[in-house]
Amino acid sequence: MPELPEVETTRRILEPHVVGRRVLGLEHDDPKKYRHTDLAVGREVLSTRRRGKYLIFPLRGGLELIIHLGMSGSLRLQPGGHTRVRLELEGTTVFFNDPRRFGRLLVVPAGEYSAMPTLARMGPEPFSRSFTARLLHEHLQQSCSALKTVLLSQRPVAGLGNIYADEALWLAKLAPYRPACKVDAAAARRLHRAIRRVLRRALSLGGSTLSDGVYTRPSGEPGYFQIEHKVYGRAKQPCLRCGRQVATMVVGGRTSHYCPVCQR
Ligand SMILES: [Zn+2]
Repeated sequence: MPELPEVETTRRILEPHVVGRRVLGLEHDDPKKYRHTDLAVGREVLSTRRRGKYLIFPLRGGLELIIHLGMSGSLRLQPGGHTRVRLELEGTTVFFNDPRRFGRLLVVPAGEYSAMPTLARMGPEPFSRSFTARLLHEHLQQSCSALKTVLLSQRPVAGLGNIYADEALWLAKLAPYRPACKVDAAAARRLHRAIRRVLRRALSLGGSTLSDGVYTRPSGEPGYFQIEHKVYGRAKQPCLRCGRQVATMVVGGRTSHYCPVCQR
């Protein structure tokens, strides 16, 4: 699933192609899934933003085009085999490719996110000053669900999905199944540092392109962080810290990779 590094990479590459251009058309065949898209036509894209895993293109006239890539979506500058939406702009076309069709695209009045509760209740951005180890600790104290489940909720911090939660938990030496409320202040500091470190490095490498190849940059180029994955996708291979086999376990419905020895 595209997570913060993939969505931010996409935003950075698309920005010069979309900002300052008028939307000429938004073509798709699923008005239930891609809602109120007619409202965007004729309006200029003023800027691009990202919140967690959501892309937000503010439009002239107080509207926003919101795009969530879902499980398998990507925005590309060339048509792909699973193009669901064509965003026609002056001088360029952006193609929303989404084999598994979990992605969303809709136009809303600026800041009106009631149709997207996850976006409406999104926690702090991981690189913002408001995301502190202390705030992370306070959030974790409020739930005794599995630590990884709490991280995936987007409430303690925005932008983590299955890959980067597993990587950050490995780096912080914390088990994905540990109750969040049992994470002490020192461990929360390790986790805070690990989240930033993993996301920063992944962003610098353009995100992760897995063997399914569903995520690529808009140019078609892959990301390269998968080469540096420490646990994700390494089941039964030796832990790069202690040498024991990396294990998997389903936590909150998601397959999680972790080291049963050095993550507690
Ligand atoms: Zn280990």
